[in-house]
Amino acid sequence: MIVAIVGRPNVGKSTLFNRMVGGRAAIVDATEGTTRDRHYGKTDWNGREFTVIDTGGFTVNSEDIFEKEICRQVEIAIQEADVVVFMVDVEVGITDLDQAMANILRRVKKPVIMVVNKVDNSARNLHSFEFYGLGLGEPFTVSSMSGSGTGEVMDAIVEAL
Ligand code: GDP
Ligand code: MG
Repeated sequence: MIVAIVGRPNVGKSTLFNRMVGGRAAIVDATEGTTRDRHYGKTDWNGREFTVIDTGGFTVNSEDIFEKEICRQVEIAIQEADVVVFMVDVEVGITDLDQAMANILRRVKKPVIMVVNKVDNSARNLHSFEFYGLGLGEPFTVSSMSGSGTGEVMDAIVEAL
């Protein structure tokens, strides 16, 4: 069972990934330091073991690469993952890249769990409502840094697997 974390750069994918896999070593599949690297880690929750993929690794700062990266991440998610975790960032709000990814993910025939990250306090919780606008249902709100809300996401992942 495989869960892929997708989302634009800096939303906090690696922070959540590290929290999920804990101290366990991740396997890195890097292709010559390009945008292709991804990390695989094993985790378990409520007695269910699964693999998490941290997609990402941006080295070139151009919109063109971003667009390609979006397609590639979602491709991985569709091909390899049983469940997709789509991460967005409450600090920044909805961006064009979030929209582009959501447009693709709305058509994916696999469970998509939208996670609003950086909800570090209750004031930020109010801002998370805007993400309903991405058309992917009710978002989970988490602070990957502190770990708050991440248990609920793990529950949802295991339920969807
Ligand atoms: P990625 O590019 O999506 O893998 O994002 P990273 O995990 O590298 O995180 C990007 C930045 O956001 C880092 O500076 C993190 O410390 C920060 N970050 C991650 N999670 C949180 C969070 O829950 N709250 C806050 N305030 N910052 C976070
Ligand atoms: Mg990362």
